[in-house]
Amino acid sequence: MVYPQSIENLIRGLSKLPGIGEKSATRLAFYVLNAPSEYANALAKCLVDVKEKVRYCTECFNLSDLAPCRICADGSRDGAVICVVEGVKDLAAIEDMGGYRGRYHVLHGSLSPLKGVGPADIRIGELESRVKGGGVKEIILATSPDMEGEATALYITRLLKPEGVKMTRIATGIPVGAELEYMDGMTIGRAFEGRREV
Ligand SMILES: [Zn+2]
Repeated sequence: MVYPQSIENLIRGLSKLPGIGEKSATRLAFYVLNAPSEYANALAKCLVDVKEKVRYCTECFNLSDLAPCRICADGSRDGAVICVVEGVKDLAAIEDMGGYRGRYHVLHGSLSPLKGVGPADIRIGELESRVKGGGVKEIILATSPDMEGEATALYITRLLKPEGVKMTRIATGIPVGAELEYMDGMTIGRAFEGRREV
């Protein structure tokens, strides 16, 4: 062991982060060591809080430290329109675009027979319950334009169209395999505007 145990522990902890090798971890550990105590304390609190306070919204399954989440609690947003996304980062990308004033449903994955992910493994049942609860007029399917995202959109369409809800799919003039979270706001805006009924 080269450094005191506390520093070694920090280096070991940091080097488990994605993209952080031992060299970067050592650099970060020394940065924290030399930073003011307030910074280290605040950082430690953030790490604890993110595990203790962040939960899934009981309504849309967005990550939130409020229940329901900020978006579900916002009375100025249209609860009759639900945009279905695969992940929280997709939701964030759409929110960054601005403009969208409906609500969301986060599936936390997409259907993939190859990976053994079936409807019961993602939040499709919860979406069905929301629709059956009434008041939903349109479902915007904003799953990825790849094979799994398309299969998921198709499954949800077949499941919920009989409920009398308008089902739309965001425009797929988007390169195949592109994920929503990596698109710029203008592209997402166009994908929304060009959505078609399915
Ligand atoms: Zn919510």
